[in-house]
Order: sequence, then structure tokens, then C-alpha cells
Amino acid sequence: MHEVRQLGYVGSTATDVAAWRAYATEVLGVEVTPDSTDELLFLRIDDHHHRLAIHAGDADDVAYVGWEVADPAALERAVQRVEAAGVAVKAGTGEEATARCVLDLAWFDCPHTGVRTELYIGPEVLFQPPFHPSRPIGGFVTGEQGLGHVVLYAPDIVGAEAFYRDVLGLATSDRVIVPGLGQMAAFMHCNARHHSLGLMGFPDTPRRIQHVMFEVADIDTVGTTYDICVDRGITSTTLGRHLNDRAFSFYFANPSGWHFEYGWGPRSIDPATWHIEHFNGLRPKGEWGHDGLLSMI
Ligand code: FE
Repeated sequence: MHEVRQLGYVGSTATDVAAWRAYATEVLGVEVTPDSTDELLFLRIDDHHHRLAIHAGDADDVAYVGWEVADPAALERAVQRVEAAGVAVKAGTGEEATARCVLDLAWFDCPHTGVRTELYIGPEVLFQPPFHPSRPIGGFVTGEQGLGHVVLYAPDIVGAEAFYRDVLGLATSDRVIVPGLGQMAAFMHCNARHHSLGLMGFPDTPRRIQHVMFEVADIDTVGTTYDICVDRGITSTTLGRHLNDRAFSFYFANPSGWHFEYGWGPRSIDPATWHIEHFNGLRPKGEWGHDGLLSMI
């Protein structure tokens, strides 16, 4: 059962919020909401109050990941499943719910990624004013598919995939296997988006997050953003197309040192009929472009 409906929001701490404000408007093209401050930026990309929050802090890393469930009963079932797996869950306070712009939440520290993982219901959705990009881009594909995907590091890749499958109810889209070494990554879905969660089985990484992908509505947004990032020297890869979700995309660094991916044209899936796939990590150039991806930490 897909108790988790979508990847709803991601929060990060940042040592330079001012740099993030400039980056959000000049590079990402997203909206910095009017209730943002010098200590907390809310970044809006659709009709949700925000999808990304940047909190002033001493570190540059993900602070929390929010997964949406449908209703209070689903939230209760999800909490029970996490507790049954031996992981302590805390009920969110009213202040925490207000801060996240949701009705209610519960949270736990993910035993695999180390990331505070929040289960929530009732996001604040704003019909008016509509999302207003800060530069002329065509908008983002979200809706029932959530904000995009997040890729986190999980050294015990097999255990991490099992946790998200057996406890939170995500399903595996595909695995990356290196013959002789074993599984390197898992990509998992909870709706028609090919993957809302990526898990990379790398130990000793400098951060817990590798990247967040936003699906852009038109190919030109990939191209114009690429030009901006080339000018600034912040590309992390070249343009390319993925084997698994077939997105045309590239990666670029943010002021905190982790990465964004702007992707266009991925295939969506039918979770009811999907069957798991895998990719051989040793196939030379199994996808075109994306130079730099294999060394991107
Ligand atoms: Fe990605």
C-alpha cells in the first residue's frame, strides 16, 4: 500500500542565506515567498506555500524531508508501521506544523540516511496569487507527483531500500548493480513519478543529500538554466539523458554545495503495473551526456 502519496517538501540548513536568496531568484527562477526572512527562505514552485525551505544554520546540509500522506488515519497507520520497525516517532507540535505550513505531522530520524523524516497531512495550498517565477521560465511539473525527487546517501543500500519499501510503502523502480560489487543505488516511487526517492549506497559522504530534482515544464528552462550555470561556473554535469526515468537534464551546485537537477520530459509510470528494472553500472556510457555524474558527491 502506498501510504506515502508524494514527496512534499525538503528543508535545508545553510550558512549563507543571502547567497541562497540571490541564487533562488537568479538561477533557480523560483519564487521567494513574501513571508521569508533573512533567517528562513520559503521557495515556492507551484500552488503549495513552499516546496523548499532554507534555514540559517551552522551546517550546509538537508535538515528534513517531508512525505505527504492522505489523511489522519493514514498518518496514524504510517506512524504505527515506523514504530513497529523499532524506530521512535515523535508527534509534531502545533508550532512545528505551523512552521511547515501543514495541518499535522509526525517525525523520526531515518535509521539509514540519518535525515529527519517527516510524515504530514494537509499542506497549505494557495490558489491565489499563483506561483510567480522570478525569471521567465515555464514552471514546474508537480501536482500529484510531488515536488520532484530527492537523492540521499544510505551506506546500507539494501537495508535502506527495504526500510522505505516495507515500512513506508514506497516501491522500487530500479536498482543500479555493479557486478562483483553489488547494489549501488535504488530508485523508488510512491506515485506516477518514476522516482521520488533515490538512495545512493556511498559511505563517508560530506553531506547526507546529493540532489533535488525539479521537473520543468519546457525544454528551454533546462537550456536557459544551463547557460546561466555555465556563466557562473556552477554546473556539476553536462546536459544528458537518464537511462531510468529518461529525463533530459543537467545538475548544478547550490550555495550549500549540494546539487539541483532540472529535468524535462521524463517518463511517468503506472505503479499498478510497474515491474522492477535494473541497470548495470559497468556498461560504458549507458546514458548519453551527464559527464561528471559518476563523481558528483
Ligand atoms: Fe536525479
